[in-house]
Amino acid sequence: MKKLSFIFIIYLFYQTTSYSKPPSWGFFAHKEINRLAVFTIPQDLMPFFKKHIVSISENAVNPDKRRYSLKNEAPRHFIDLDVYGKDGLKEVPHRWDSAVSKYSEDTLLSYGIVPWHTYRVYHWLRKAFEEKNLDAILRHSADLGHYIADANVPLHTTENYNGQLTHQHGIHGFWESRLPELYSKNYDFFVGRANYIPDVQEYIWTAIEKAHLAKDSVLLLEQKLNEETKPGKKYSYETRGATNVKVYSKPYSYKYHMLLNGMVERRMRASIKMIGDIWYTAWADAGQPELSELLTLDLTDKEKRKLNEDKTKWESRTVKSREHN
Ligand SMILES: [Zn+2]
Repeated sequence: MKKLSFIFIIYLFYQTTSYSKPPSWGFFAHKEINRLAVFTIPQDLMPFFKKHIVSISENAVNPDKRRYSLKNEAPRHFIDLDVYGKDGLKEVPHRWDSAVSKYSEDTLLSYGIVPWHTYRVYHWLRKAFEEKNLDAILRHSADLGHYIADANVPLHTTENYNGQLTHQHGIHGFWESRLPELYSKNYDFFVGRANYIPDVQEYIWTAIEKAHLAKDSVLLLEQKLNEETKPGKKYSYETRGATNVKVYSKPYSYKYHMLLNGMVERRMRASIKMIGDIWYTAWADAGQPELSELLTLDLTDKEKRKLNEDKTKWESRTVKSREHN
């Protein structure tokens, strides 16, 4: 049985990778992470998530789209822990109200709120389950998956998020998009069944801690590789649609992939498992509501219109946002 589900997950993964090129690989990874998280859900809740897998996966990228149209969206995707001192991880209180008392809300918003916002969305999802509100359940499930995946990325926990402070501009997309583009076909995405999490807030902070502890390796290993690489070997050009784009060359990417020793795969696996865990916990904490009546329903027209509006706003990009996939 275990083996069968594993093969099924891999099959789904290959199926989706063979589609025409998505707008960006960062978007691709977010969608895949949400999609694969559905397969971690225990049997009692699985029919509901499976029925809505397309919506949950396709809308995994909505929070990134909203960054260009909603002013307060941007800080929800990261936390610059290093601005809080060398021991930022220990310094920053985990509870939102304690963190606000210590630093002020403005400061927290300036340097990112991904751990606190993720916890807030867990509460919204729990309430949506309690109310059996399909639109809200699907919206918050998709969003929660996005924020959890971001919280697991090392460069989402530092002010040097794109290597701009260490002459490594572009490393964000290199780690988060280019490497999955080249190597995720070989990643093992079987992460087992979701578990109930007694303390969601601390679980989120543990993920942030793991991501942040990997941040130095992400930057230093690329710096070392860059120093050892002959000029002209670092970048190459690839055709994307009708245009040629500059990319990190395949040999350079391969060396970085080897130096990272499975880190991107580990962070993706951790994201998938954690999303399943927190979806499941939100439902359990809502009193395990019976959702069979929602199996025959689809999103309301109002919600569909809202999703379309978000897309249009994203296309017109009225708000500036930091580089991030
Ligand atoms: Zn994001």
